[in-house]
Amino acid sequence: MTDTTAIERLNDVRSRMVHSAKLARRDANAITLIAISKTHDAAAIRPLIDAGQRDFGENRVQEAQGKWPDLITQHADIRLHLVGQLQSNKAADAIALFDVIHSIDRPSLATALAKAIAASGKRPAKKLECYIQVNIGDEPQKGGCALADLASLVDLCRTLDLPVVGLMCVPPADIEPAPFFALLAKLSDQHGLPELSMGMSGDYDTAIMLGATCVRVGSALFGARGMIYTK
Ligand SMILES: *Cc1c(COP(=O)(O)O)cnc(C)c1O
Repeated sequence: MTDTTAIERLNDVRSRMVHSAKLARRDANAITLIAISKTHDAAAIRPLIDAGQRDFGENRVQEAQGKWPDLITQHADIRLHLVGQLQSNKAADAIALFDVIHSIDRPSLATALAKAIAASGKRPAKKLECYIQVNIGDEPQKGGCALADLASLVDLCRTLDLPVVGLMCVPPADIEPAPFFALLAKLSDQHGLPELSMGMSGDYDTAIMLGATCVRVGSALFGARGMIYTK
């Protein structure tokens, strides 16, 4: 991939975000674009950093540990987001590297994160933020907290003093995502968690219409994983 292509894709995604925000009468500056760089190496990531992109997301702690420490040393203002499922025994590693964790989905993980934060004192210069991931389509194979368990998980996170700011979801594939985004927005309202992490390459415009405050975009920026980018 040439640098020009990466920058064109970034500009394209940004302008679509601005367009969707305008249609929804929202301020585009209040919506964060998280570039999901999983499976892509530092050489693919650098052009986006050079073009000013600062929020990046990964779905595996170990993969992120391999490529991000150097990039972060070079650009201290990068914010790294963990968007994949997190094992409790990786909680300490996760908070050492990531600024935002989008995937709290069960009490044991909430407890492990709280312990890890207490033990580390978390880098004081950077503030950790967390999202609770909701299994919004009630799919058996999907990550995320069951709808029925959300209220108690929110309570637990607050009891543990976890810095939970919002809700995150990945709606069921291949069906219209709008009702799921709308439901997540309603839940975030009910629970007083204003940030909404929703929308990926195929549906971020819809997510923005329905209130997303951050969108997680991978293939539209980096090209399809394991496929040739066609657009
Ligand atoms: C991979 C991934 C994304 C980005 O998906 P694209 O369809 O490539 O934009 C967003 N969120 C999560 C949780 C992911 O795992």
